[in-house]
Amino acid sequence: MDLHIAHLYPDLMNIYGDRGNVIALSQRARWRGIEAEVRPYSVGQWADPDWPDVWFFGGGQDQGQDIVGADLAGKNGAGLRRSVEGGAAIFSVCGGYQLLGHEYVPEVGPAIPGVGILDVTTRAGKKRFVGNLLADSTDGQLIGFENHSGRTFLGTSAKALGTVVVGNGNNGEDKTEGAIQGKVIGCYLHGSCLPKNPWIADQLLIWALARRHGDVKVDPLDDRDELAAREQAIGVARARP
Ligand code: GLN
Repeated sequence: MDLHIAHLYPDLMNIYGDRGNVIALSQRARWRGIEAEVRPYSVGQWADPDWPDVWFFGGGQDQGQDIVGADLAGKNGAGLRRSVEGGAAIFSVCGGYQLLGHEYVPEVGPAIPGVGILDVTTRAGKKRFVGNLLADSTDGQLIGFENHSGRTFLGTSAKALGTVVVGNGNNGEDKTEGAIQGKVIGCYLHGSCLPKNPWIADQLLIWALARRHGDVKVDPLDDRDELAAREQAIGVARARP
């Protein structure tokens, strides 16, 4: 079995160690004997938008987001929407998450249109949300750290990924963190997220593998190190809310 992983705009949207999410996805596949290949998809003509089974879209500064937003306003955004309609999964963090929504309105400059895959809308606020982020979710607690000025609000088609316990999450008002819609997940969890929340990585693998291989079960891995890292991070988040 093989897995096609696309890393979106790795040159422009890759802050706070978000590349670790691509490493976690590819390693958790390889540890199960699945051949994982990672390809970059950045600004300009994409060779094959139908190749990926799963896309990763990381965080970025406002400056990078307007370049990426302009690129996604054309054929590449249409290709990404078509890919999701065809069964691909997406995992996105912060700036990438914001651009999967309807629009991101930065503090300075014009609104940046989003791809419209997630029913969310984001506007920059005056104060940056920076710090540990802990949220309850149906599958367990989510741990990471956040650094964003954007306030994201969910529309009716998106469900919150979690409920904030420590930190601000989507907007610092409604206690929601992240969004999930079909096989697409957005969140504000830098850190990087997937190594410390391994079941999300495995859910993404199952969704991605199903695109070309049908219903696949993934064997459990020895996650002692991952769980130790997350307990340590949860302890810090609880001690320093
Ligand atoms: N520039 C966006 C914001 O500040 C996203 C930041 C990020 O990706 N960390 O909200």
